[in-house]
Amino acid sequence: MVSDRVPPYAVRVGGTLLPKPIAGHPALELCNTLAGWDDPQETRHEWLTSAADVAVWLEFTGLVAAPPRADLLAGVRELRTVAYRLFRHRDESAFPALARLADEANAHRRLTPEGFRLPPSDEPRHPLYAVALAVADLLTSPARDTVRACPGAGCGWLFLDPRGRRVWCSMAACGNRAKVRTYAARNR
Ligand SMILES: [Zn+2]
Repeated sequence: MVSDRVPPYAVRVGGTLLPKPIAGHPALELCNTLAGWDDPQETRHEWLTSAADVAVWLEFTGLVAAPPRADLLAGVRELRTVAYRLFRHRDESAFPALARLADEANAHRRLTPEGFRLPPSDEPRHPLYAVALAVADLLTSPARDTVRACPGAGCGWLFLDPRGRRVWCSMAACGNRAKVRTYAARNR
């Protein structure tokens, strides 16, 4: 029998394993599609390995329903690096790259009774627009100041911490691993 055990930091969506949403904002969930941000390339865990993964993730995150176009993978990963530099490291040199795409995306928004929205479109860059607008939304919101990074080994996931009390991405994942390590150290 094939094991279908899903780790505590993952969720199965159809046949795709995705990172569990823990962040409180899609722009941070984007960042969390990579684990081990502070680690060397070869030990990181990449969740978005194909255009199909990206398409499933986009819809699961509630950003946009889009066909799995081949060029989507590189574009979303690039934007993810930009977002991580901005949210985790406050690296403002990443800002122009976001601003260029967000400005382009903004030109496609239309006013609806609920506010400015990106209407459905066949435009190839449409999915990237949705992601860029989500990143811009958090970046220009006061919630940006509540972004924290999980200190777990091999993690680096980001999440909102409005009350300043959260340490781990998830108690069941990194929190538990740290507890086990502390326990082992104490009993050595
Ligand atoms: Zn973590």
